[in-house]
Amino acid sequence: MSGLKKQKKGELIVLSGPSGVGKSTVIAELLSNRPDIYFSVSFTTRAPRVGEADGVNYNFVTREEFEGMIQRGELLEFAEYVGNYYGTSLKVIREKLEQGIDVLLDIEVQGAAKVRAKCPDAVFIFIIPPSLEELSRRLYNRNTDSSETISLRLEKARQECGESVNYDYLVVNDNVMEAAHEIRSILEAERCRVKNRIHLAQGIVGSGSARSGG
Ligand code: 5GP
Repeated sequence: MSGLKKQKKGELIVLSGPSGVGKSTVIAELLSNRPDIYFSVSFTTRAPRVGEADGVNYNFVTREEFEGMIQRGELLEFAEYVGNYYGTSLKVIREKLEQGIDVLLDIEVQGAAKVRAKCPDAVFIFIIPPSLEELSRRLYNRNTDSSETISLRLEKARQECGESVNYDYLVVNDNVMEAAHEIRSILEAERCRVKNRIHLAQGIVGSGSARSGG
């Protein structure tokens, strides 16, 4: 079994998609099958929505607290989105990856671009809705934002979908189970990449001459 060492570092998985596309539901479905993945709880200055809990959905902080984290260099990335800050803690992510744990980030496109520059080996997945009309319907049904905020989010969504060309994979969230299944398949394929398994081949190559002739 000497060559069958596990992959050492965790995989960084970046998931983006317009607000209201159903990312949280798809992520919950994905994590129910892959509890080994660590979901990064972001910091935000936006107010909690009904049903959201501090430390679970987000770490809710004031603008002053967030700006302090920026100044102290504590964030892997951050962005301003529809008037609020959102950002990812560097320390937690680094620790998990070092421990060999896969880490999932749910972040918008500006933040994802910063992660791409810093961590080019990460896997970038973009989720789109079946159509803009369907997205609009979902945002209104969610009943959590004013129609003014929804209009802003829809315009933002249209622009964001144009950024999907910078991602590695595109998933259409027409059906939550299927979207989660596609993401699991993407992660499985990533795990089999030669770069993630080269040590397995090296174990065989390295032990070849000792066993030849048998
Ligand atoms: P919402 O307010 O709907 O929860 O999130 C708005 C947007 O912020 C979503 O596209 C979500 O992916 C993004 N977001 C959440 N956390 C982070 C983060 O830590 N960094 C960045 N850049 N975007 C985030």
